[in-house]
Amino acid sequence: MKTELLYLKDSYLKEWEATVVSAKGKFVVFDKSAFYYTSGGQPCDHGKIVCGDEEYKVVFGGKFDGEISYEIDKEGLKEGDTVQCVVDWERRYRLMRMHTAAHLVCGAVHNKTGALITGGQLEIEKSKIDFSLENFDRALIDDCIKLANEMVEKDLQVSVEFKSREEADKMPQLSKLAKGLPAEIKNVRLLSIGDFDVQADGGTHVKSTKEVGKISLLKCDNKGASRRRIYYTLE
Ligand SMILES: [Zn+2]
Repeated sequence: MKTELLYLKDSYLKEWEATVVSAKGKFVVFDKSAFYYTSGGQPCDHGKIVCGDEEYKVVFGGKFDGEISYEIDKEGLKEGDTVQCVVDWERRYRLMRMHTAAHLVCGAVHNKTGALITGGQLEIEKSKIDFSLENFDRALIDDCIKLANEMVEKDLQVSVEFKSREEADKMPQLSKLAKGLPAEIKNVRLLSIGDFDVQADGGTHVKSTKEVGKISLLKCDNKGASRRRIYYTLE
């Protein structure tokens, strides 16, 4: 991969300089980027790119043929251009808060019920989490949200560290995702929330749980058999 992803070490980086590695029409690859690309249930960042007198808007980021490519609103950037990049911080910060909230809720559901997390999708307005659980009642889920909010109130530190695959495979706490880690991941990025939760993760997060704000449960759905889905938002 040609792009160094700056947000993996610093989720708060909002502006940086980069060089265009390749440009095909509106699709551009950079040598480094703090624009999140759509992956792992977190939507891509928006933002702007300034090159000389020209300004471009970033409208999408994704992985195509192993490279991370950003779609901009018009053509004009070319290989070798030096550009200034700025993240749309309001959108990104909301998604960071949503993402840390998702880990708190997953941690709480897993702690209280032992359920495995099967999926999730973050959005600006509301986010959803899927898990597998036989016995399902609203009071139990209310309890999980209450526990997640207690962790917000405790203002736990959210931290990132990298471990070898071998070390990560020995950590029983990482087993709450039904899918497990893809085999090709050799260097594992671990996201810890105090000693409440740890997950392998490639997303962007706030640095302390107080920043999440209050998590509120919107809806619980039964998707048949033991498939459950909850929707939450942030106040
Ligand atoms: Zn995550």
